Amino acid sequence: MGTVIYGSELSQELRDQLRARIDSLKEQGKRVPCLAVILVGDNPASISYVRGKGKACESVGMKNREIDLPADISMEELKSVIQSLNEDPEVDGILLQLPLPGGLSDTEAILTIDPRKDVDGLHPINIGNFYLNEPCFVPCTPMGIMELLKRMNCDPDGKTAVVLGRSKLVGTPVARLLQNANATVTVCHSHTEHLAEVCASADILIAAIGKPKFVTEEFVKEGAYVIDVGVNRLEDGHLCGDTDFEAIKEKAGYITPVPKGVGPMTITSLLINTLKAYGETL
Ligand code: NAP
Repeated sequence: MGTVIYGSELSQELRDQLRARIDSLKEQGKRVPCLAVILVGDNPASISYVRGKGKACESVGMKNREIDLPADISMEELKSVIQSLNEDPEVDGILLQLPLPGGLSDTEAILTIDPRKDVDGLHPINIGNFYLNEPCFVPCTPMGIMELLKRMNCDPDGKTAVVLGRSKLVGTPVARLLQNANATVTVCHSHTEHLAEVCASADILIAAIGKPKFVTEEFVKEGAYVIDVGVNRLEDGHLCGDTDFEAIKEKAGYITPVPKGVGPMTITSLLINTLKAYGETL
């Protein structure tokens, strides 16, 4: 049977280290890192994500400033709020909860964030630096995925990796990180032919498509490292990933579950990026 790697456990270990680092800043009488999270409107999923990020900050002793704005705010007003956070020396990281309500442009808002405070790694300057291998904020979910591979004792160097999904937020950047780590990477998407066969060639398989239990046994090479990024709500209310976890856990060498897999690592990566924006590394 494959080993199940819990992102929740790894995340807790990293948060313990973050807490120790922040406690030591406090002991030295230094300012504590602060993450500002902007929530526009009252989308229940967005509210829940924002609250989760606030709690995560508290869990490591980081400051968290939540800025709640009405859904009918104008683009100019939103940009002016972002601008004031850019200029605020007490704020290290700015996270804009996306998507914004209709009528507001995600792109225009992101462009307003100071790239040095863009802890989500969404500003085009960070994206450009990411693909140029220059210093930048690495997007949080791909960053968490690479940490999970490390926890699996998986060195991607020379291995075959297949990334299922090519989104801007997950599939494409994780493929880049794997390539930088010297894996030979194939990116699959909705037009890929012989999908199961391609996936079954992978030493490392990253599933990020948002289709419940899509990845079945025939997609998995014996002993593969499998990371399940998907978060899907089933009719009975339970969450499940993009892999058929029960069916493939015997065949995979290592596998992450959903929940308690990639999700907690994404938020912890956000905290690590905020510490970096402050000027410290973990
Ligand atoms: P997305 O933007 O919807 O992209 C989905 C990708 O999957 C696209 O590239 C799409 O191909 C591909 N795809 C869809 N159906 C497919 C199929 N039948 N066969 C092959 N490829 C298929 O999704 P995302 O933002 O990357 O998110 C993916 C999943 O990860 C979602 O469940 C999301 O909730 C989850 N997620 C979790 C976290 C976390 O922290 N745990 C963070 C982000 C996302 P095309 O490009 O051809 O359309």
